[in-house]
Formats: sequence, structure tokens, C-alpha cells
Amino acid sequence: MVVVDDSSTMRRIIKNTLARLGYNDILEGENGVEGWEKMDKNADVKVLITDWNMPEMNGLDLVKKVRADERFKDIPIIMVTTEGGKAEVITALKAGVNNYIVKPFTPQVLKEKLEAVLGVND
Ligand SMILES: [Mg+2]
Repeated sequence: MVVVDDSSTMRRIIKNTLARLGYNDILEGENGVEGWEKMDKNADVKVLITDWNMPEMNGLDLVKKVRADERFKDIPIIMVTTEGGKAEVITALKAGVNNYIVKPFTPQVLKEKLEAVLGVND
């Protein structure tokens, strides 16, 4: 999985939650440019979790770039952001985001949204 957020604290929170769910193979980026580099060099990545508001390249542009690449047309993408408005959610979904989490969030919410995009049921 690739976790992209300009807040190192938020990346740590997400990583810790993923570790508790059994996902330890996590690559990190602190903006869209770094996130794209990690994706591009690791095309077998299973999930992208990205913030929206970041310097250099924001999460929405990252999602568009990822979706435009044939290798990643089906990869699950979760956006984790403070942008909780309906218009923002619709914009993100149109860009190819599969699921959306508004900060602040609980570990349980991340678990549920992740399982939803991965098709895990129980
Ligand atoms: Mg941010």
C-alpha cells in the first residue's frame, strides 16, 4: 500500500492502524509527487490512500494521474481529507476515488472503508 499525506503525524496514524489490521508493507509519500514516484516504481501496489491538500501535487491531481495510467486503472483508492463537503466528495469520486474518509476519523472507519474497497467481508 502507498500512504500519501503531507502530515507525518497523519501518516503515522494511518500506518499504525494498517499495522493493527495486518498490513505492514507500507510505502509513504509526503505529497503527490512523492506518492506518484512510489506508485510508478512499485506497480504491484494494492491500495493507494491519499490526502487531498498537499504541496507540490495535491491528492486530487495524484488520483487523476494514477487513474490515467493503465497499470493502476483498477487499483482501490481511498481519499482521507478534511474536505468533507458534498461537492468535494463528488469531485473526488469522479476523479476515480473508490472511498472517502473525512478527518478526523477513527481506526474503525479506516478499517471499514479499507475492507469495503478490498472486498473483505466478515
Ligand atoms: Mg494535507
